[in-house]
Amino acid sequence: MMENTNEMKLEFDSRSSNEGFVRVAVAAFCTQLNPTLEEVADIKTALSEAITNAIIHGYEGEVHKIQVLCQIREQTFSMDVIDQGRGIADIEKAMEPMYTTRPELDRSGMGFAFMEAFMDELEVVSAPGEGTCVHMTKVIRR
Ligand code: ATP
Ligand code: MG
Repeated sequence: MMENTNEMKLEFDSRSSNEGFVRVAVAAFCTQLNPTLEEVADIKTALSEAITNAIIHGYEGEVHKIQVLCQIREQTFSMDVIDQGRGIADIEKAMEPMYTTRPELDRSGMGFAFMEAFMDELEVVSAPGEGTCVHMTKVIRR
C-alpha cells in the first residue's frame, strides 16, 4: 500500500444550490496536501465549471445525481465529475475555447478552457445518451 493515498466520493442532486457545499467539501479534502490558497481556488473554480456543465448541459435543468470522486496519490490530487446525462457527441469541438451549444443561455464556451488552465490535466470521457466524466488532476508540490 502506498503511503499517501486517500479517496472520497460525494453524490448529490444536480441543483446549483448544492455547488457551494461541494466546493467546500472538496477544498477541505485537498488541504491534506497543504496546497496554497491559489491552488485551492484553482481546484474550486475547475470543479464549479464541471458541476455547472453537468447541471445545465448534462441534465438540462432536470434534477438527477452528480458524483464527484476525489483521490490523492502522493502529491497528485485528482477529481472526476460524473453525470449520467445527455453526453457529448463531439468532445474535441466541445473543448474548443468559445464553443458553446447554449449561446441563448449567455454561455461563453469557456468552461473547459478554464478547467484546462487551472488544472494540470483534463480528460473528458463522454458518449451521447450515456453521460459524461470529466477527469482532472493537479500536482501539489511542497
Ligand atoms: P460556459 O462554461 O462558458 O458558461 P459552456 O458551458 O457552453 O459555457 P464549456 O463549459 O466549455 O462551455 O462546454 C462546452 C460545451 O460542451 C457545452 O456548450 C456543451 O455543449 C458541452 N458540455 C460540457 N459539459 C457537458 C456535460 N456534462 N454534458 C453534456 N454536454 C456538455
Ligand atoms: Mg460550461
